[in-house]
Amino acid sequence: MADQLVISRALLEKVLAHCKAEYPDEACGLLAGKANRAEKLYTMTNVEPSSVSYMMDPGEQFKVMKEMRANGDRMVAIYHSHPHSPAYPSPKDVSLAFYSDSFYLIVGLSKGEEPVTRAFEIVDGVVREIRIECSIDASSGDGLE
Ligand SMILES: [Zn+2]
Repeated sequence: MADQLVISRALLEKVLAHCKAEYPDEACGLLAGKANRAEKLYTMTNVEPSSVSYMMDPGEQFKVMKEMRANGDRMVAIYHSHPHSPAYPSPKDVSLAFYSDSFYLIVGLSKGEEPVTRAFEIVDGVVREIRIECSIDASSGDGLE
């Protein structure tokens, strides 16, 4: 799998806005796109609202994944927020990481601090950090910050 997640600044801002809106509960959602390039945001309903874990609405997730396939997209990343803890996968996140082909994007929102966004791949319980390449425009390959 690729060593970096490519995402535009505008799309990342949408992820942050969703995470802030759900605070102090965890927000969750999916990023669709091509290869390692996230292009489209799907906010998902956290059906077990909590500040320490999340559970995506399974019916909603099924519908979104079907739409991604219909659009010829793949699930590039799964994101969620950590309202009170660092942007690193919790033991529960690792044990529930069923998608080894997708990146896990975590937004840490410790109060009073700038949000911290980190990306990981989680394969067979092994966590590896992935670089986030934030471009001004994800549709062009350049314009990196
Ligand atoms: Zn988590």
